[in-house]
Parts: sequence; C-alpha cells; structure tokens
Amino acid sequence: MRIIIFGPPGAGKGTQASLISEEYDIPHLSTGNIFRSAIKNESKLGKEVKAILDAGDLVPDEKVVGLVKEELQEDKYDDGYILDGFPRTVSQAKAFDEILEKNDETLTAFLQLQVPEKELIERILSRGEGRTDDTREGIKKRLKVYKEETEPVLDYYREKGAVQEVDGTGSIEEIFTRITTILPNN
Ligand code: AMP
Repeated sequence: MRIIIFGPPGAGKGTQASLISEEYDIPHLSTGNIFRSAIKNESKLGKEVKAILDAGDLVPDEKVVGLVKEELQEDKYDDGYILDGFPRTVSQAKAFDEILEKNDETLTAFLQLQVPEKELIERILSRGEGRTDDTREGIKKRLKVYKEETEPVLDYYREKGAVQEVDGTGSIEEIFTRITTILPNN
C-alpha cells in the first residue's frame, strides 16, 4: 500500500501515520522528521534547513524531492509506505507522480485529515513536543504557508479523483478507526 496522509499543521498526520505504519506494516516516511533529526545531528542537511524550519518556511522543492527519491530507493519501501508531510507543493506532487510512474506503481490512497483551524492552533500549542516552530507566531506562519503553497496540492489530487476525506476531530482512536474503514484490508 502506498498512502499519502495530508492536512494542515496540527491535523494529526504524524500520529495517524505512525498508527497506519504499525497496523499495515509499512514504513512511515516523514520529511519533517528527517529534517528534524538532521538538525539534531548537526549534519550538512541539518545546517542547510535549520533556519527554514525555524521560520516555518518550506524547504526548496529540489532538495525535498531529491531526498524523497533517494530514500524511496531503499528496499524497505518496496512493499509500500505512508508519506507524511510530502508532497507539500504541486511541484512536489508532480515529481512524486513521476517517481511512481517510473517504478510502475500507483497510489493506494490520499487521505485528507480535516480539522477546523481554531482547533489546529490549540492542538499544536498543547502538544508540547518542544518543536522550535511550535510558537503561536510559528504556527500562524505555517498555516499561511499551508494555505498558499500546500492546499493547491488538494486540487491536484481531487482532479485525479483520489482524495478521501477523513474527519480529523475526536480521539486518536476514533480518527484511526475512520481511516481503517477507508483503507483496503489486504
Ligand atoms: P512537518 O513535521 O511535516 O510539520 O514539517 C516541519 C517542517 O519541515 C515544515 O514546516 C517545513 O519547513 C519542512 N518540511 C517538511 N516537509 C516538507 C516538504 N515536503 N517540503 C518543504 N518543506 C518541508
């Protein structure tokens, strides 16, 4: 199964992606996690992206696409994966389509987690993950970037008829149950 989990910051993508990864035994690929661990390890990549993440901006498409391309070449992704935080621009979505096509693969599901904006801000502020971009200002910036650059990705997948909407409110378990009823049980 190849799945994209999509939604604004604070929608619960990471939490649900981890649960999906466990339930369906597919690796969880989070571009945000890759960047955060690179920053923590002070690697070359980490040094390149730290200021961008702190500002709530997007890492340039070429860098993200190159990274995902390379990562997906690992054997562990052969039987599927769940993408969390990618694609985040239409250009990334197109590049991802090319990756799939090249490998003669298709996307199983595009899950859109829907959460009212008011709730997003409260959730992020209360999640206490200690992320340096989890300040009120940082969240506002990321929501703005989401609306301007990431939301158009939805239209791109809507045109393909691929978008499956998931009510992202309620408990973690309730949301996960909604997801499992949508996904094929293979
Ligand atoms: P996330 O953990 O998905 O919220 O990502 C945290 C931050 O990493 C974002 O605010 C961006 O700065 C960066 N990032 C993660 N994924 C991407 C992506 N696909 N394209 C550009 N920037 C990204």
